[in-house]
Amino acid sequence: MSIGTQLETLRKNLPESVTLVAVSKTKPLADIKQAYQAGQRIFGENKVQEMTKKWEALPKDIQWHMIGHIQTNKIKYMAPYVALIHGVDRIKVLAEIDKQAKKNHRVIDCLLQVHIAEEDTKFGFSPEELIALATTDIKAHYPNLNIKGLMGMASNTTNTKKVTKEFKTLKVLYEQCNTNGLGFNILSMGMSADYPLAVLQGSTMIRVGSKIFGHRNY
Ligand SMILES: *Cc1c(COP(=O)(O)O)cnc(C)c1O
Repeated sequence: MSIGTQLETLRKNLPESVTLVAVSKTKPLADIKQAYQAGQRIFGENKVQEMTKKWEALPKDIQWHMIGHIQTNKIKYMAPYVALIHGVDRIKVLAEIDKQAKKNHRVIDCLLQVHIAEEDTKFGFSPEELIALATTDIKAHYPNLNIKGLMGMASNTTNTKKVTKEFKTLKVLYEQCNTNGLGFNILSMGMSADYPLAVLQGSTMIRVGSKIFGHRNY
């Protein structure tokens, strides 16, 4: 199936409340152009250098989302244009995004990444750290960033009960943050293999790569 057809099929089966991020990491400009022609405007990348090259080469109405692990020394390169940073997972990153946003006279939208999977290879705040952070006045500390919600990755397993439980944990934390008055409206969870489960648990944003563009060759 073509990229355009894959996108249409995917969108047709998604509730309107769910935003689709097309994860184009490792994929060439030609593939992204095909998705663009099929109406897709939000793309996700996990390497700053690759994303910046693509941003330079492609139409400026594309919104670029950084979905990968953040290195603080790379934030300055994406600060002029990035639309949403999903993987904010430590205080040092919050502080650096705030600094670079200010330099660029912007307010940068971010999500806090929460560690919900069992594997210890995945990054993110623990639920305890998140709640501690959510009860401090984040806005006062970091006036140049706008924390719009949470992001998480479930365990990489075919055990759907386990994946569902992890997504549910994230949804509960998201609601708890809103009870604390944070006004979140983005819950980024779900990838090619597990987005239907994530949507059932209340995801508002899914990050789908291989299901649109085919398998990646690293
Ligand atoms: C690569 C990646 C995705 C997309 O993965 P697929 O399985 O290809 O859909 C989603 N989220 C993050 C954080 C990723 O790194």
